[in-house]
Amino acid sequence: MSSIEVIEPATERVMAELPRGGAEEVDAAVARAKAAFPAWGAVNPADRAALLRGLADAIEERSEALAVLEARNAGKPIGDARGEIGMVVETFRYYAGAPERLLGQTIPVGGGVDMTFREPLGVVGLIVPWNFPLTIASWKVAPALAAGNCVVLKPAELTPLTALELEKIALEAGLPEGVLNVVAGPGSVCGARLVEHPDVAKVAFTGSTEVGRGIAAGAAATIKRVTLELGGKSANVVFADADIEAAAAAAPGAVFGNAGQDCCARSRILVERAALDDFLAAMAPHVEALRVGDPLDEATQMGPLISAGQREAVSSYVPDDAPVAIRGSVPDGPGYWFPPTVLAPVGNEERAAREEIFGPVACVIPFDGEEEAIGLANATIYGLSGSVWSRDGARALRVARALDTGVISINSNTSVRVSTPFGGFKQSGVGRELGPDALEHYTEVKNVYYATEG
Ligand code: NAP
Ligand code: MG
Repeated sequence: MSSIEVIEPATERVMAELPRGGAEEVDAAVARAKAAFPAWGAVNPADRAALLRGLADAIEERSEALAVLEARNAGKPIGDARGEIGMVVETFRYYAGAPERLLGQTIPVGGGVDMTFREPLGVVGLIVPWNFPLTIASWKVAPALAAGNCVVLKPAELTPLTALELEKIALEAGLPEGVLNVVAGPGSVCGARLVEHPDVAKVAFTGSTEVGRGIAAGAAATIKRVTLELGGKSANVVFADADIEAAAAAAPGAVFGNAGQDCCARSRILVERAALDDFLAAMAPHVEALRVGDPLDEATQMGPLISAGQREAVSSYVPDDAPVAIRGSVPDGPGYWFPPTVLAPVGNEERAAREEIFGPVACVIPFDGEEEAIGLANATIYGLSGSVWSRDGARALRVARALDTGVISINSNTSVRVSTPFGGFKQSGVGRELGPDALEHYTEVKNVYYATEG
């Protein structure tokens, strides 16, 4: 078996080396999961809930070590990594409430009693990206296990370390052998095998829209259930009647958080023309002051990109003649650094405004009036997140309702909460994660009719 060299993007050095899984390892993991499923699916709901609470506690006990591992491997500021591991713990606690609340219905019919049950699917394959490695894994693993499924999780080859830790922690916390299996290996081999495997009932994927298309096509052969969380090119719509200082102070975090490697990045900042100059002037000091550097330094706000390849891809959106309005700084020395960059003004049809950059590059796009703002915001194949900033509450709500996007915030740039549904419209995906909605995607509805009359 060949090996995976795990790189630390802030130093470009190898931080770990581990065996590279292939199709055989996936097959073995699916077989373990399949063997574990009947017993796991039959665990008394209160006991399954207790095991998930125990797992949450065990993750919490190791949260500092997990945060350091994630910060080093993904190149994210340690403060952010701590927040993410905190969300992992919260996610397991939230779904620990589910086994005892997977309610069915009784439906009035003639001649008997009709009732529905939410049944687990069986073995589910979970494929996750490198940008929020353990957090996105937990959004899938926790509801999948809570609903009674067994899991094969494939982390991204660039960031497999925290997922492998999770597999160990789960065993230590008392989850039965075979319930949670992790295979680290390339997507084109291990991910593809999960998608085609006849014993895998469902694939939940987070990653690029391009790979997502292939997964949807591949799943068709076995009619697998599929949920997809894909790319985005979200709009941050700022009206001239907004609190411009507040909007300008929040906008950098919404693009430069996780060095822009965030599917929810509000990378198209639509600003009403009357406020454009004030907005850019108010935003500039926040961008220039961003502390870009060592992920393990407590003061750091932005780390490096994940890889040399990612930096090259991001650079292609900022050629020498690009309209750079604001630019932050980067440290010297090794590391895949890219400065926070604001391009202004940009036309909505230009490449930098159309394609997901997945790096710290924001496009500021001027607009005139509500109708144009809605038209521009919706003129994209994506529809994941977005924001509306206005002091006119009715307008803000009207615009939020008119945007073709799954997650939107008013006078805020936040996207994700454990208890609320998250997912995309259009080519940003299929299905929802988090909140109660996720459970529907890890269960099948069974309808039972019981004849009670003659
Ligand atoms: P990616 O290339 O699509 O990879 C995502 C995962 O899929 C990785 O584990 C990858 O494995 C695996 N994979 C690659 N090719 C595959 C194949 N043919 N069959 C099955 N699995 C395969 O995405 P990425 O480069 O890791 O992440 C960046 C993209 O993810 C961005 O476009 C971003 O918008 C999107 N994203 C979306 C969300 C969301 O919630 N909507 C969240 C985060 C990221 P290997 O990398 O190990 O080869
Ligand atoms: Mg990729």
